[in-house]
Amino acid sequence: MEILPYTKEHLLFRERIRDFCQKKVAPHVEKWEKDGIVDRQIWKAMGQEGFLCTWADSCYGGMGGDFLYSIIALEEMAKTNHYGLDAFLHSDIVVPYIASYGSRQQKEKYLPGCVSGDIVAAVAMTEPDAGSDLASMSLSAEEKEGFVHLNGVKTFISNGLSCDLVVTAARDPLCENRHASVSLYLVESGFEGFSRGRPANKLGVHSQDTAELYYQNCKVPLQNLLGKKGAGFSMLMEKLAQERLLVAVLAACKAKFALEQTIEILKHQAKGPLSQAESFALVEMTTEAELARVFVEKLVLEHMAGKDDTARVCMAKYWASEMANRVVSQCLDLIGLEATTEACPVVRTFRDLRVFKIFAGTNEIMKKVAAKSLGFSK
Ligand SMILES: Cc1cc2nc3c(=O)[nH]c(=O)nc-3n(C[C@H](O)[C@H](O)[C@H](O)COP(=O)(O)OP(=O)(O)OC[C@H]3O[C@@H](n4cnc5c(N)ncnc54)[C@H](O)[C@@H]3O)c2cc1C
Repeated sequence: MEILPYTKEHLLFRERIRDFCQKKVAPHVEKWEKDGIVDRQIWKAMGQEGFLCTWADSCYGGMGGDFLYSIIALEEMAKTNHYGLDAFLHSDIVVPYIASYGSRQQKEKYLPGCVSGDIVAAVAMTEPDAGSDLASMSLSAEEKEGFVHLNGVKTFISNGLSCDLVVTAARDPLCENRHASVSLYLVESGFEGFSRGRPANKLGVHSQDTAELYYQNCKVPLQNLLGKKGAGFSMLMEKLAQERLLVAVLAACKAKFALEQTIEILKHQAKGPLSQAESFALVEMTTEAELARVFVEKLVLEHMAGKDDTARVCMAKYWASEMANRVVSQCLDLIGLEATTEACPVVRTFRDLRVFKIFAGTNEIMKKVAAKSLGFSK
């Protein structure tokens, strides 16, 4: 039973992007995993086909699609079993900051490039000493001689090497209020004083360029302040709802993908019917993956109706990511020896899923926010 109200147009879009992923993405994944980054031209190819920022208005080159197009793009990309082409981060997490809070000039300047793939976007919140507690960030923003000067370091930034534009969170050192001192700035990679470090050598998500970003007297024009000065923290919190929901959707997709692969592998390995232990394990895992799908799709519907439920989005992010990690680990157990080699596709899924418990807010933070929202704690 379909919960989400897909139309004929949605299904045609799904067919197109599935074909694209099979022909233009999947064949390059092994190379990208080795390179630690995806080829730049894939962004342009995605843009040319209309697969980036599907929600953007036609005046910026977009198709003005609803959130279901974003979900379809995410689901089809998940089937390529890699997490390097972070198109959903670009399209549905970062660029929406510009669409929601940007001035007309900022939208006209940046949105067409974000839609066409000429501009790759990133969001920089995390610092070496400020992860979960974002309000303790120290990257400073000071107005001098007609510019905002940014000084500090951001760490573990997805699309860190490929990005051309970074939504950067920074604080006014003169403002004592931890939350009201944070503002967001649109930083172009060519701005004086902006540079990048080496990519992180991570446990998983090998094809994604996760890097440190350095701001050394980085000169940002005053007009590149995004939204109101001092409103950065609330903008980040507002946009984290969609990010967390998408991570939950993706975790559910990854669990489904791993299960499908595992069933295929077991069929090949089997000399006879599956044992009762194996078939029971598959039934239990399929039940969990289905439960996750129903849960996240209900939240997608609510999100589309503008009724985000903070507690349940956090619950979905924590539970779906834990469930997917648990399921994929058990898939490896069932596959056996074959699952100790890189030839087994579920190995990469297993590695890539670990970070789902950490980014977009760690699962401990998800429980903290949910507990507060449900009135279980202060
Ligand atoms: C692959 C990858 C990509 C990323 N991409 C981006 C990106 O694009 N942009 C960006 O800004 N950041 C990004 N991050 C950073 C990510 O968002 C942070 O790692 C995350 O917010 C957690 O911060 P931390 O690692 O500093 O952990 P910490 O905040 O130091 O937490 C350490 C542990 O303590 C727990 N903890 C902390 N505070 C509490 C509390 N109050 N109560 C209970 N438990 C608590 C946490 O849950 C965690 O288990 C990325 C990280 C990775 C690994």
